[in-house]
Amino acid sequence: MTDLRLSGIGMTSARTRDRLVQRLREQGISNLAVLERIRNVPRHIFVDEALGSRAYEDTALPIGYGQTISQPYIVARMTEALLEGGTLDNVLEVGTGCGYQTAVLAPLVTRLYSIERIEPLLSRARERLRELGIRNVRFRHGDGTVGWKAHAPFDGILVAAAPLTLPEALVRQLKVGGRLLVPIGPEGEQELVRFTRREQRLERESLGGVAFVPLLGGTS
Ligand code: SAH
Repeated sequence: MTDLRLSGIGMTSARTRDRLVQRLREQGISNLAVLERIRNVPRHIFVDEALGSRAYEDTALPIGYGQTISQPYIVARMTEALLEGGTLDNVLEVGTGCGYQTAVLAPLVTRLYSIERIEPLLSRARERLRELGIRNVRFRHGDGTVGWKAHAPFDGILVAAAPLTLPEALVRQLKVGGRLLVPIGPEGEQELVRFTRREQRLERESLGGVAFVPLLGGTS
């Protein structure tokens, strides 16, 4: 892939990306490191070429297999909410999808583990991250509902698909003081929740209504 394809031209140019960043600022995203990632990650390489010109609109787009690339605002909001309160060493992402959220988050943490249940999406994500020179991510094809025990406990867990109820395994794999960002609920009624694990309890904060694809069991 050429440098030009990564840096973008026209509707994928730096100026177009700046407009997206400005819009996210206006919507309340204030973490500068997160905004810098949104500016620097070429979202257009994560979608089909035919959709490239829409890559910097603040909207979800199809990535095949009935899945979508998350809306930039949501990626920024979740990343910001995950990082709030300190740096993170060991982070788990459930639902790699096309790898866009992974690419935004990876350089902001020490190690990122990312699980996806649809194999072709995972291998494409892997390729794109390699192309962007991001090397602190380990991928796994599997069911993220059960977490990734071998690398637990995590300082942070980000779930990019919505379960109906909180998956207990993910809570068990969270460090004390660790944060879990997850959209919960049926289609049309989901809420983005941040859980913080305390010694004896789980703290719960609602971050508002969202629309995610469902978190499914098994692999494909
Ligand atoms: N943040 C991603 C979008 C993810 S869409 C991006 O930027 O592209 C949600 C993804 O979660 C889909 O790819 C879907 O296949 C995956 N998914 C759903 N249930 C899962 C599960 N149990 N384990 C792992 N991945 C899952």
